[in-house]
Amino acid sequence: MERERIGFVGTSDLAGHFRGKSFPMADLPARLVRGVGLAPSNMMLSAFGPIYETPFGTEGEVFLIPDPGTHVEVMFGDAAPEIFFIGDIRTFDGTPWAYCPRNFLRRAVNALEDETGLRLLSAFEQEFVYTGAEARPASPYRLDALRRQGIFGEALLAALRAAGLTPDSFLAEYGARQYEVTIAPAIGVTAADNAVITRELTQAVAFRLGQRTIHAPIMDPNDVGTGTHIHFSLVDGAGAPALPDLSGPYGLSEVGSRFIAGILHHMPAITAVTAPSVASYYRLRPNRWAPTTANLASLDRGAAVRLCSAPGSDGDTSARQFNAEFRVADAAASPYLALGMLVHAGLDGVRKKMALPSPGQAKGASRLPASLDEALDFLAGNGEARDWFGADFLDVYLMFKRSEIHSLDGLDEQEICRRYAEVY
Ligand code: GLU
Ligand code: MG
Repeated sequence: MERERIGFVGTSDLAGHFRGKSFPMADLPARLVRGVGLAPSNMMLSAFGPIYETPFGTEGEVFLIPDPGTHVEVMFGDAAPEIFFIGDIRTFDGTPWAYCPRNFLRRAVNALEDETGLRLLSAFEQEFVYTGAEARPASPYRLDALRRQGIFGEALLAALRAAGLTPDSFLAEYGARQYEVTIAPAIGVTAADNAVITRELTQAVAFRLGQRTIHAPIMDPNDVGTGTHIHFSLVDGAGAPALPDLSGPYGLSEVGSRFIAGILHHMPAITAVTAPSVASYYRLRPNRWAPTTANLASLDRGAAVRLCSAPGSDGDTSARQFNAEFRVADAAASPYLALGMLVHAGLDGVRKKMALPSPGQAKGASRLPASLDEALDFLAGNGEARDWFGADFLDVYLMFKRSEIHSLDGLDEQEICRRYAEVY
């Protein structure tokens, strides 16, 4: 059968879904200039599909322009290849659209670099459930659990490398049929691009094997959840690590401690973006290796921000491995919005010279919001977050998420988990 290559351009939208449009690859040169047209209301497509509410109506046109630096092309033998790009949403005159998630992050990393000379280095550690593995008791972290996912992991690592990414790990996790993939850190917006590409290729490989991966925050309200942990550090203009200073409290440099203090300070509002589904809050409960308070701790998997260090062959290697891990995120979040919130909040901490609690006081940290509703109220009341988004974008985000809550009215926790597991 004759075949012709089809490419796709998308963005990880307000629901954290990778949505866009496809085009014949023969037209790529033209599409790199004019992109694909979208209705502004496309941004209001909910996690579950339908548009519940939109301020944009049916009018207008914006343009999703493929970024050639994000070109992914992975072959799967005789099966259809994966050919896609990540795009930027622009208006007719070529300026960034005020509601473009990727531009929200770009503005944050540019401001960080302009004001501090530092760049963000980060990597997403993504957990998910693989339907092709058998759920067996006592399987967490066992070689047997790795074996039982068959060739999925190997095919995933190969697909990631074919896409130009560098896998760091693939492993069997704590939960039933749960696995995790992490890739090497990258600078600025590229780290979030890599997270989107990783998530898509994870689903793509599972699909080619007749299975699917489920990235929903939690499968059962009584069980362990599925997190997306964001590891981050700061590097200076020469690429040298700027987060650690082994003589400082927590082993953090002054700018590093201010950056993390900003994240802790804005945690309630950040949570509305990084844990953005109703089910996200069933994960953030005690004894699940998920955080419940807005705290910082070294090497504690229950902390909201965990400082991670690893043995290195010398001081320089250790300093490069030292990073902070933000654990209040899951896969319902767009990596652009999640990482963007961390950088905007961290930069606010640097600007205002915020200080961390001394290591002894960290126990008194405030609790995280207990529901999406509560988190959205914090976001709505956060004046700085209104500036980071822009007032219109913030109101649109609040409308979007509140309508998601209403769409689940009357359902119990089990059913809500089931609904999210269907779509993530
Ligand atoms: N699955 C846990 C979570 O929901 C994390 C387990 C781990 O520490 O990797 O975040
Ligand atoms: Mg994990």
